[in-house]
Order: sequence, then structure tokens, then C-alpha cells
Amino acid sequence: MADKPKIGTMWLAGCSGCHLSIADIHEAIIDVMGLADFEFSPVLMDVKYDEVPDDLDVLIIEGGIRNDENRELAEMLRKKAKFVIAYGVCAVYGGIPGLGNLHTADELAQEAYVNSASTYNEEGIIPNEDIPHLESRVRPLSDVIDVDLSIPGCPTRSDVLAEALVALLTGEAVSLPTTNLCEV
Ligand code: SF4
Repeated sequence: MADKPKIGTMWLAGCSGCHLSIADIHEAIIDVMGLADFEFSPVLMDVKYDEVPDDLDVLIIEGGIRNDENRELAEMLRKKAKFVIAYGVCAVYGGIPGLGNLHTADELAQEAYVNSASTYNEEGIIPNEDIPHLESRVRPLSDVIDVDLSIPGCPTRSDVLAEALVALLTGEAVSLPTTNLCEV
């Protein structure tokens, strides 16, 4: 019997809410799992980045590009996936993290590590080693890699994702609702 198509999911600069909506597919997961296998996901299974299969059929990405690690992962995973879905407004447009574009990366670091009310950092040290470095601005995924399908929403409606996956996996055209794509 031929192997089933492989699905992966990844989070970049998002809040993980869109991954909760993936997990919320509920009984439609039976339809999806009948057509494909989940091979890689930060919430569904423990797979190291260097263990991600090279032949993913569908990759669902939450979040945009905020730092150099986001960019590196997006570029690495794009090479491994035939079809990439930008999932949620953060991936499609930049979303909430995109509000950071109102400030410079230095201003954001100063606020996060020094000025915030919950921070005790008398010496004003801003770490710059062994952490991902902020890029100058938040970018939607499509600014950095080719995206095959964009599904906005915040978080995106699980039923919309389930229907899109079933359509994709059965060779049908994906049809998205023209009104509310948000879960709540
Ligand atoms: Fe979170 Fe909304 Fe962004 Fe999804 S689109 S990662 S729910 S902020």
C-alpha cells in the first residue's frame, strides 16, 4: 500500500493559538488522518528540527518572521515541503507581532529586558548571545518564502483548516469562506 501523504506543522512568530485551532479539528481529524499522517509538529509530537522528513506534502505554518531563527526555520522547512500553508493572520500579514513594527528592534529589546515593570535588570544588560536576533521588522511569511495557500483568522477556524486539508489531499480545489475566518 502506498504511503499516505505527510503533513507537518510549525510555529514561528505567533502565540501558538493557531496550533490550538489545529488541535481543535475534533472529529474531522478522522477524515484528515484517513488521508494523511502528521509527521512533524511542535505540539503533536517530539521531533527535532533535523529529524523533519525531507518529503512533507503539506506544511502548515503559524506565525510570521520576527527573528533570524524564524527565517532560518522557514527557509529550511520550505525546502522540505511541496505545499506550504500560511495559517493565521500572523503568518499571512504579520498579525499581533507586527505591532512591533511601530518600534525599532533596539527599542523593543530595551522595553523587554530593561524597562518592563516585571524586570529587575539594574545594569541594563541586553542579552545578545545564544538567543535569536530580532530582524528590523516583522514580515509575513510570503515575504520570505513561497506560500501556496494563505488562510487568515485569529485563531483560524478549525473547520476551515479541516476542509482545506481534505480538499488538498483529495485533489479538489480549496474554497475558503469569504466572511469570518476567526474561531471566536
Ligand atoms: Fe495567535 Fe492569532 Fe497569531 Fe494565530 S493569528 S498565532 S491565534 S495571534
